Amino acid sequence: MKRLGVLTSGGDAPGMNAAIRAVVRKCIYHNVEIFGIRNGYQGLIEGNIEQMDVGSVGDIIQRGGTKLYSARSEEFRTEEGQQKGISQLKRFGIEGLIVIGGDGSFRGAQKLTEKGFPCIGVPGTIDNDIAGTDFTIGFDTALNTIIEAIDKIRDTATSHERTYVVEVMGRNAGDLALWAGLADGAESILIPEKPDDMEEVIARLQRGIERGKKHSIIILAEGVGSGIDYCEKIQQAANLETRVTVLGHIQRGGSPTAQDRVLASRLGAKAVDLLLEGKAGRMVGIQNNKLVDHDINEILNVQHSIDEDMYKLSKELSI
Ligand code: ATP
Repeated sequence: MKRLGVLTSGGDAPGMNAAIRAVVRKCIYHNVEIFGIRNGYQGLIEGNIEQMDVGSVGDIIQRGGTKLYSARSEEFRTEEGQQKGISQLKRFGIEGLIVIGGDGSFRGAQKLTEKGFPCIGVPGTIDNDIAGTDFTIGFDTALNTIIEAIDKIRDTATSHERTYVVEVMGRNAGDLALWAGLADGAESILIPEKPDDMEEVIARLQRGIERGKKHSIIILAEGVGSGIDYCEKIQQAANLETRVTVLGHIQRGGSPTAQDRVLASRLGAKAVDLLLEGKAGRMVGIQNNKLVDHDINEILNVQHSIDEDMYKLSKELSI
């Protein structure tokens, strides 16, 4: 292959820029031309495509967001939209495509691969909800943002002797809530993978109060329900002064951590290697600190699961 393309799709994640940079520089290192596609699959359909050079990815490794922008594209879900995308890729002489995004973006990449256009997926999403990789790009940065926020909330929670419900991102996956809960010593962690047991949450709060605890933090993944509703429920059931903070999109932004920059650089470069080796329909990942690749179709059929031992530990430590 002499000419490749790269796009970012779905929700942006800190570290996507480092992945773009790695793809671009690795291509140029191998004397392969590299084209950036703006606005995800929508930009692909519209032919919003431009050649990138070494300088075009300078000064972005430390930036959040994505230099190539991201978009959701309903049109690309259709057969016609996918054919338009392939026509554009052919028009620019692009022979293989690297898609940086979440599982939805991988479904799009799989559709193109099935139609004969080779694609490789790079997992970029703060949710850490993709099977076949221990971590996705952006997870570590989002986790650190949450922890910083909760540390601040804890100060005011202690001063006013309040219970705080903190709603974090994670529609289908509780990783952010679970890791943040462990890192911040939360009293309770509520995640979509585990049934919500209000009685247990209240009992744990009461035990803390009896021990003289001045504040309590409950972390709720958005997939479980609204933080505002949950806060009201706690207030009524336990008769405790309770406040809620919905962290929202601050979790998506910010400069990527060293961990995310390194991960993104390794995964982006590996994706180029796979295309140049003639592989297609694969997703790159990291497992036990080794780079791996898996069939996208197989990965999409595996439900992401939380680490049960970590969940158990979080309960043991918040007695
Ligand atoms: P995040 O995890 O941050 O939500 P994502 O990649 O899962 O990221 P989606 O909105 O699900 O985000 O998908 C991104 C884009 O991928 C969609 O807007 C659509 O263009 C394309 N896409 C998703 N599913 C399919 C599909 N089944 N077939 C073709 N394209 C798809």
